[in-house]
Amino acid sequence: MLQTAQATIREAATKLGYNPKVVEAFLEAEAEHVFEIEVSGTTYPAYRVQHNSRLGPYKGGIRFHPNVNLDEVRALATLMSLKTAAVGLPLGGGKGGIAVDPHSLSDAEVEELSRRFARHLAPHIGSKKDIPAPDVNTNGQIMNWMADELEKTTGKKDPGSFTGKPLGKGGSLGREAATGRGGVITLVEYLKEENMLDKELTIALQGFGNVGYFFAELLRPYPNLKLVAVANSKHTWLRKDGIDVSKTAATNPRPEDLDDLKDAKVLPSGAIIGAKADILVLAALENAVYEANVGAVKTAVIIELANGPITKKAEQVLLKKKVVILPDVIANAGGVIVSYLEWQQNLKNEHWDEDEVNIKLADILVPAAQATMAYAKEQGVSFKQAAFELALKRILGS
Ligand code: NAD
Repeated sequence: MLQTAQATIREAATKLGYNPKVVEAFLEAEAEHVFEIEVSGTTYPAYRVQHNSRLGPYKGGIRFHPNVNLDEVRALATLMSLKTAAVGLPLGGGKGGIAVDPHSLSDAEVEELSRRFARHLAPHIGSKKDIPAPDVNTNGQIMNWMADELEKTTGKKDPGSFTGKPLGKGGSLGREAATGRGGVITLVEYLKEENMLDKELTIALQGFGNVGYFFAELLRPYPNLKLVAVANSKHTWLRKDGIDVSKTAATNPRPEDLDDLKDAKVLPSGAIIGAKADILVLAALENAVYEANVGAVKTAVIIELANGPITKKAEQVLLKKKVVILPDVIANAGGVIVSYLEWQQNLKNEHWDEDEVNIKLADILVPAAQATMAYAKEQGVSFKQAAFELALKRILGS
C-alpha cells in the first residue's frame, strides 16, 4: 500500500513539475512515534505517524490489529494527507496503531492499552496538533478513554482532541453512516456528470460492514441502481432480482440476515471481484484487487470505499481497459469530513442535528468530487491522478 500511494504521488508530482527533492521530502513523515506498551506482561508495538501538517493539524485513525506495522501506518498516514487535501479540509494527515488482537484481551486490558497509548503521545496530540479517530477494531469507547487520559495527563480540558467519540461524549450525529453516505454522493455525482443517473445499472458490493451496509442502505432512494451481489469475508451472494437491505429483522444486519439473500446463489468470497454488474464497490480491505484477480473484473466502474483496495499494477491494467475508478481519497472521505465536523462542533461547543451534519458533508464533498472530475477531463488523467494532483497543489503550492 505504501508503494502504491508513493508511486501515485511521484507520478502526479512529476507531471506537475515539482522538484524531486521536494517530493521526496513530502513523502517522509514529519514525525514518527514508535514505542511499546506493556499490558499484563505482554509488550505490544505501537505507532503514531504524523505525515504532513501544512494544511492543519494531523488527522487520522488508530487501528488495533495484529498486522499493524510501521509501513502500513506510514501508508495510511500518507493517504490521509492526500485525502484531507483532496476534499479541501484544513487538516493534515496522520495514522496510528497497535499491533494487537484486541479480541484476545479483557475489556480492562483494552482500556489500559488505550490509556497508555494516549499517555505516551500526550505531548504530541490534541485539538490543535493531531486529532486521532477510530479505525479497524477501535471505537467511540476507546476514543473516550484516550481523550480522558490525555486530559488527565496534560491537566487541560481539550474536547476536540479525538473524534468518533460516543454521542453523549461530544460525538457527532451522522458519523456512523458518513463513509457510506460519501460513497453514494460520489457515485451520484459521477453518474450525473455522465448523464447516467437515470439509467438502469447493477451494483456488486464487496464488504458489508459499517461502510458497505450504509452504502447499500443509502442507495435505496435510487431504485434504478440495483444491488445484485454482496460479499463478506465468507461468501458472495448473487441475486439478479436485486437485494433490498431493509428487508430484514436485524438492526445491524449481516448478509446472512437479509430476507432477499435466502434464495440467492452463494459463491466463495473472492467471486465478488468477477461478479457481472455495471459497478463494483470495494468496501472491505486494502489490496482487494491485485495482479492475480484483476483479469476477472467485469464492471466498467469501480468505487474505492476501502483505503487502497486496488494495487498499482492492477490499477494500470484497469485503466488500460478504460475502467473508471472513483478513488478512495474522494469516495471514502465522508468519514473524515464528518470527523472534521465533529471537531468543529467541539471547538465551538455546539451540537448540530443530523440533517445539518449531512448537508455540511455534501457541501464539502460534492464540490470536491465535481472539481476532481472536471480536472481529470481537462488534463486527460484518471480521477485518482486528478485527486492526487489537486491535493498536492494544495499542500505543496502551485
Ligand atoms: P468493517 O470491519 O465494519 O467491515 C468490513 C467488511 O469487509 C465485513 O463485512 C467483512 O466481512 C468484509 N471483508 C473482510 N475481508 C474480506 C474479504 N477478504 N472479502 C470480502 N469481504 C471481506 O469495516 P468498515 O468500517 O466497513 O471499513 C471497510 C473498509 O473501509 C476498511 O478498509 C476501512 O479502512 C475503510 N474505511 C472505513 C471508514 C469508516 O468510516 N469506517 C472510513 C474510510 C475508510
